[in-house]
Formats: sequence, structure tokens, C-alpha cells
Amino acid sequence: MRFLSKTAQSIEPYVPGEQPKDKSYIKLNTNESPYPPCPLAGEVIETFNYEDLRLYPDFKASAFRAAIAKTLGVNVNSVFAGAGSDAVLGYAFQAFFDRGDTVVYPDITYGFYSVLAKLYGLNPVEIPLDANFRVNTDGLINAKGHIVIANPNAPTGIALTTAEIEHILSSDRDRLVIIDEAYTGFSDKGNSEPLLSRYDNLLIIRTMSKSYAAAGMRLAYALGSPELIDALDRIKDSFDPYNFDRLSIDVGIAAITDTKYLRNTIDRIVKTREEFRISLDRLGFETLPSDANFLFTRKQGVDGKGLYLALKDAGILVRWFNKPRIRDFIRISIGTSRDMKRLVKTLEEIL
Ligand SMILES: *Cc1c(COP(=O)(O)O)cnc(C)c1O
Repeated sequence: MRFLSKTAQSIEPYVPGEQPKDKSYIKLNTNESPYPPCPLAGEVIETFNYEDLRLYPDFKASAFRAAIAKTLGVNVNSVFAGAGSDAVLGYAFQAFFDRGDTVVYPDITYGFYSVLAKLYGLNPVEIPLDANFRVNTDGLINAKGHIVIANPNAPTGIALTTAEIEHILSSDRDRLVIIDEAYTGFSDKGNSEPLLSRYDNLLIIRTMSKSYAAAGMRLAYALGSPELIDALDRIKDSFDPYNFDRLSIDVGIAAITDTKYLRNTIDRIVKTREEFRISLDRLGFETLPSDANFLFTRKQGVDGKGLYLALKDAGILVRWFNKPRIRDFIRISIGTSRDMKRLVKTLEEIL
């Protein structure tokens, strides 16, 4: 195309999970919540005064940041807010990495990191997961660059412990370590929040798309030292100063505040996940441990793509990745208990 920049020509955009419209599916392919966001968010939307939309929103979303700080018990100067964690990851790559910088992440992880690395002209180094699909922390450390880790990792679902994260942070305090905690809340394992006060090279990014059930609203936040947060604001204010609309700010405040509802829905999803794991065991699947709201599983002698297609045909969407080492797996988001029973029945029929 005549008008494409060299950068635009060179990149391969991220491909999100499909959203087909041809029929209604049980949708277990993008790790959305099967439950609605908290009722308080609904009240906020119902009572929102549309006339206020004539006014610009607060470009710092200060009230949202303050609500995050209060709920988590951190200083408000350590909180950044963004419209989805993909956007915040984009700010972070621009704020902290220069063209040619080395950025290190596992070979099997969230696909957006490699897209951003290419977009911003970085030197990406991919460290293979070990034979059990666990992140190789020493490999990351020895690669000598800034580090990006999804914890728990996606699409495997396995988390590093907080001690392992600390080992990475302390190995070189002059490199930045970005921890993408997209699945915050589904497990206590690996939470790096307790490390914030001791490591100014730590940036935690959390989306509200998964555990908070707000994927449709685009809400995320980051936690880090005030210098890191200032740097994110510098980038945001250079091309996207009003990154939240007024309604999103209000819904975000409601969602972050209602911790009881959050706990409740997470507990239900985790319970369903473990029941579903037992059904998969019974069907002879080999399923990785999960600290998230999905299971990554395979069955000897069954082709991953074939299984994904057969399930799609039967009206159930799961995710299959056309990638070496994981082609025989499918990733299944945890829906309601009813969704998972339907899936088990369908699997029995297919097998
Ligand atoms: C889902 C997911 C995201 C994207 O979250 P959004 O806030 O919806 O953009 C980022 N990182 C990981 C690891 C994810 O699984």
C-alpha cells in the first residue's frame, strides 16, 4: 500500500480471540467473566447524567486513581490508570524502552508483547519455557535486558511465586521488570504488590477485564514508583491525554470499590475451574496447573486444532494457538458451571 509507513509495513498486528456472529456460542475463548460486573457498576450507569458528557473528563482520572489507592492501601502517586492493559503496556513500552533496547520475555506468553516490541523497534529476546511449561527465571535474568512477564503466564496459566519475582527484581536493580497481572485475584500465588515498596524497578499492570468482569469498559491500572508513574503520564499526555471517558471513570470506581462482589465471583469461578479440571482428568486430558480463569489442556492422540474446530462446530468456542510446542493444547476459559457441564458432555461426544 502506497501510504504505509515502514513501521506499519513491518508489523504483524495482534489477533484477538474470534468473535463470530454466525450463531450464538458458549464463549470460552477470551477469558471473559461469565458473570456481570458488580451491581454497583450497574447503578452508576443507570444514574449517570448524560448531560455531563458535554464536559471533558478529568484527564488524570484522579478519582479512579484515588479509589484504587484506597482499596489497595497504596500511595496515590504510585497508581496509574489506563483504558485497558494493552494500552498501558503500550505506554510502558514507549516510556521505558528505546529503539534497539533488549526486551526479554518467555517464548510462550501473551502475544501482544512481541507485537509491541516490533512496533517500537526493540530487540526482543524470547526465553523458552521449561519442559513443564514453567517460566525459566534464570534464562530471563541471564538475557540482560528489560523483562516482561505475564504472571500467571498466558496461555499456560502457571504463576511464578512472589519469591521468584523478587529473585528477578533483585538480580539487577537497573533493569525494569514489568509484571502483567491480568489474572489478578484468581490466585494468591505470585502477587508482586508486597514487593512494590522495596523495588523501584517493578511495574505491575492489572486489567479489570478478567476478574472484575469489565472487559467491555476498558479499565486497567498500573502500580509502581512515583517516577515510573510520572513516566507513564508523560507518554499518555503526549498522545492520549483523555484516556478515559466520564462514564468509565465512574464505573471503574464502583468496580474497584466493591471488593466483596469481586471475591464472590472469583470464588465461584475458581470452584467451577477445579470441578471442570476433575472432569477433564476423567476424560484422560493432561491439564496444566492454573492460577487463572482458564485451563490449558491436551489429550494424547487428539489434535488440538481438530478439537477446537469440532467444539466450534458444536457451538462452543475455545482458543487454539498455532504455535510450536502448544499446537496440541486448547485453552478453555471458565464459564458458568452449566457452560462447563455442556462442554464436558460435548467433549464426551466428540471423543
Ligand atoms: C487479557 C490480557 C490482557 C489484556 O487486557 P485488556 O485490559 O483487556 O487490554 C493483557 N495481558 C494479559 C496477559 C491478558 O491475558
